[in-house]
Amino acid sequence: MSDIFAVPKLPSPTVAVAGTTQRFPVRRIYCVGRNYAEHAREMGAPVDRETPTFFMKPADAVVADGATLAYPSGTSNLHHEVELVVALGSGGTYIDPGAALGHVFGYAVGIDLTRRDLQAAAKAKGLPWDTSKGFDGSAPISAIHRADRIGHPTYGELAIVVNGEARQRTDIGDMIFDVPSIIHELSKLFELAPGDLIFTGTPAGVGPLLRGDHVVATFSDVARLELRIGG
Ligand code: MN
Repeated sequence: MSDIFAVPKLPSPTVAVAGTTQRFPVRRIYCVGRNYAEHAREMGAPVDRETPTFFMKPADAVVADGATLAYPSGTSNLHHEVELVVALGSGGTYIDPGAALGHVFGYAVGIDLTRRDLQAAAKAKGLPWDTSKGFDGSAPISAIHRADRIGHPTYGELAIVVNGEARQRTDIGDMIFDVPSIIHELSKLFELAPGDLIFTGTPAGVGPLLRGDHVVATFSDVARLELRIGG
């Protein structure tokens, strides 16, 4: 009997769902850039309140809570960006902001890992960000907490601590584009679907991660992600 697939078909990446043995199958990972004014300023970028900046990571870039991640190749300036992550339970196009939260399955905390040196070089040349943002292991994420249990948070502390030292701390109420606006804007550009994750942008205080670092990212008392950077 011949196989259906011409090459090995790899399993879909998944993320844990808190309080259950069920898994969240990841379809796509969308990310918002420059969604906190103080971070845009620290990057020397303009604060744009009209149009959000979007980019993507591959679905299999997710890394589970508790993992040790090998220090990525191709960089000597790996940066942390702690972010609230939205997980979609349904999708569509041209989603009205007033209907957007109805598509949210839950929330997590994630780290938009960034090869800052490659991003700086790309920006300087006006080139795409893919190699600086979409690399293997670039999307560590906590378990997803169901919105039907925790609600839809509009405020709450987002923080990251590296080796016991506070690095980034903000309130998600400071986002330039809130979750309904992000879903609305993204759905004008892409057909959203169940399994999509949206990293909603990072506050000020991004900085380097080194081999051996111990990282704890939290959203309020809801979500927690622990990560070690390997050799
Ligand atoms: Mn980011």
